[in-house]
Amino acid sequence: MISTSTTYALIVHGGAGADPALDYREQEAHLRALIAGGQKRLLAGESALDTAVAMVKDMETSGLYVAGKGSAPNRDGIVELDASVMDGSNRQAGAVAALRNAVHPIEAARRIMAEGRYVMLAGEGAGAFARAQGLEIVADPATYYVDHVKHGSGGAQEGHGTVGAVALDLSGNLAAATSTGGTFNKMAGRVGDTPLIGAGTWADDGVAVSCTGLGEYFIRAGTARDVSARMTYGGASLNEATAAALAEVKRLGGDGGLIALDRQGNIAMPFNSKGMKRAAVSDKIAAVVRIFEPE
Ligand code: ASP
Repeated sequence: MISTSTTYALIVHGGAGADPALDYREQEAHLRALIAGGQKRLLAGESALDTAVAMVKDMETSGLYVAGKGSAPNRDGIVELDASVMDGSNRQAGAVAALRNAVHPIEAARRIMAEGRYVMLAGEGAGAFARAQGLEIVADPATYYVDHVKHGSGGAQEGHGTVGAVALDLSGNLAAATSTGGTFNKMAGRVGDTPLIGAGTWADDGVAVSCTGLGEYFIRAGTARDVSARMTYGGASLNEATAAALAEVKRLGGDGGLIALDRQGNIAMPFNSKGMKRAAVSDKIAAVVRIFEPE
């Protein structure tokens, strides 16, 4: 379909686990290049879904964030990955939880969505699905994953991180994608908000949301869907809805941040942790890359 709209927007995040004592210049440079590449994709007419997934795949193999290659092992020394994707144009969704050894968990989530029968596969079953789909598998986990502590916050015991992307394409469709290695030192089988549609990820025809922070609080607050509900039922603006949803996380005792876009291409990327690695671009704003500075 040829679109006449010139409205597009893209936000990516590299997690709300950011420590002011650490040097994130490499991540900043990466985010700058990433958002420029994503902008080109959207301007070339690529769908929000393809663009959001492409952004997350790039971050998963960069080794610069706590997702994919940059993920930390759990207490048993095994990396378990969570990811989800949602297409706002039709509310289709796909997710994987506690998936092992997939190079691109987000691609596994996307294939589940494309198959259409299930929304989420977990553990062994998710791994079997990824293999059956011919997805790239980590050949040697012992050497593939990179040192995670420098990407997170609060050291190896408390830290966490995630990557995510939300996009609005020239056809007016929204999509969201999120992928994580979870919290450092997590128990085997622990699953956070990232693969849960409505908690860590949401997209409909009004808003797309990708969250990052201590997942247990985002699950309890139902954050990503909360943003949409506040806009749909409460008439809140994107800024009001995202601020209120994040305040609810805080009220429960958690912290973190989220990125969100509405169908007009408005951008929100609030956080109440120390920082959130993030970048945004749209037809109205030149690319910005931020970590500790507020919006
Ligand atoms: N939300 C992720 C989780 O709890 C971690 C993060 O976003 O930093 O698994």
